[in-house]
Order: sequence, then structure tokens, then C-alpha cells
Amino acid sequence: MILHKFKLNLFLITILLFASCQNESLQDDLDSVEQTLTKDARATMDFLIDQGYSSNDLIPNFQNKTFIYAGDMEFSFDLIKNLKKNRIIEESSVEKNQWYFVGNGVYYENSRNITYYIERNFPRSLEYEFSWAAYHWSRISPNINIRRTYTRSQADILVGTWYSTSDGAWARAALPSGNGNVGSWLNINTAKDHEGASSESTMALLIHELGHNLGYLHSDQTEGGLIPGTRGPAYHAANNCGSVMKSSVYVCNWRISSTPGWSSDDRIAIDWAYDLY
Ligand SMILES: [Zn+2]
Repeated sequence: MILHKFKLNLFLITILLFASCQNESLQDDLDSVEQTLTKDARATMDFLIDQGYSSNDLIPNFQNKTFIYAGDMEFSFDLIKNLKKNRIIEESSVEKNQWYFVGNGVYYENSRNITYYIERNFPRSLEYEFSWAAYHWSRISPNINIRRTYTRSQADILVGTWYSTSDGAWARAALPSGNGNVGSWLNINTAKDHEGASSESTMALLIHELGHNLGYLHSDQTEGGLIPGTRGPAYHAANNCGSVMKSSVYVCNWRISSTPGWSSDDRIAIDWAYDLY
């Protein structure tokens, strides 16, 4: 277990989103539906390789028509096709962040009015933490508002589950697919002991996954680019509380409370893409 000490002498509990060596078992699971990549999927993969991603790290998920990356994110096969179809709106976050978010930014007109729907299989006991995660994103930026809908067909984000003991990920989320909207789903792996985790760590995990829906990548990854003003992947690799978007999620300053736990780099990244209150 990794422990990290910060100024107030509080110790942190960590959720390791994924362990190394998980790609093989994940690929084994996915190979049962092995197919060849479509032309559009290939174009997206080539684009991501140009952004510094390794093809070995982009695991095709033919069921979702996505590439799984770093255990808990999925890039749509149609990312490049969608980007070519959608004109970049001036002053939209897409315009600002097209290179950092590898083109998968979100139009403010959509991010200001995000709805999520909790699927029936999502554990009732975790809805409370999810509502706090949505609350914190909604309170940090004038251009982000996330609220619950009870009408599935109207939802931007479907919140559900999957079950895999061989998959190292605790949760996984779709990145925006290049059509100007947020990533369309967020799932938790019910093979992991979410119930046994603290409410704070579950909330931090869900804040992290919603961050992927909003287009944020991992603060400690070298691929894709760097948000101006943030301290970069080497800093974040060495500092567990540098960002809630680190690939392994730490509780750090997050509590079940209206007081947010954003780090200074989180605030810079949010301000850059969505503006801060
Ligand atoms: Zn992640």
C-alpha cells in the first residue's frame, strides 16, 4: 500500500485504478470478439499514435467500438470521423483544447447541461457518492453543470457497471467522441470492493471518471500534450495529490462535504478548458 503524508498529517487511502500487467488479461477477455479494425478505427488509432500513444497500449474493444487506454479510459473508434464532421465552434472548449484533449473536447452548450442516468444495476449504496462527484464538478465551473435525470433516453451519461475479476480497472469511462458532447458512459467494476472503500475514496474515483467524460486525460501521462500552466507528468507521477486526474486516484483533500478538494493543477486545468467560478 502506498501512503502519502501531507501538511495536516492526514494519511491517505488509495484506490489503485489498475495494476500493471493487466493488459494481457484484459486483452484475453476482449479477444473472444476479435475482429479487424475498420477504416475509421484505423484512422483514429493513427491519429493517437501521432499524439505519442503506442499502438500496444490502445486495446481495441469491439463491443464498445473503442480503444481502451490506461485501464480506465475509452477512445471512440469514430473520434476522427466525428471531428471531421463537426465544425469547431469559436470560443468552445473544443477550440481551446483540441490538441490537448486529442480533439475530443466538449461544446460549452453541452457541458452546461449534462444529465446522467443511473442504471438499475448500479449499486444504490454508491449513488450518494456519485451525487457528490457531480456536485463538485458542477460547482467548480460556470460551464459545467451535471444533474441527474430519471429519463434514460434524455441522459448524456449512462452510469452502470460491469463485472470482471481479471480486469484490473475499478471503473472506466468514455472520453468525448468528438461530436461535441461529453463521454456517454461511466461504469464501475462490481468485482472490486467499492462497498468496502471509504465514501471519500469512492467519491474521488467518481470525480476522476467524470473528468474523463469531460475530456480530461491523466495528469501523469506523457501522451497527448500538456495543459499550459500545469506542472506536467513527471511532477504528477511523483506527487499523489497533484491532481484528481492522476492515473491512480488518491483521496487527498476530498471529503464528503461541500468543501472541494481540487489541487492547484486541477483548478488550472479546469480554468483552461472550462473557466473557473
Ligand atoms: Zn483515469
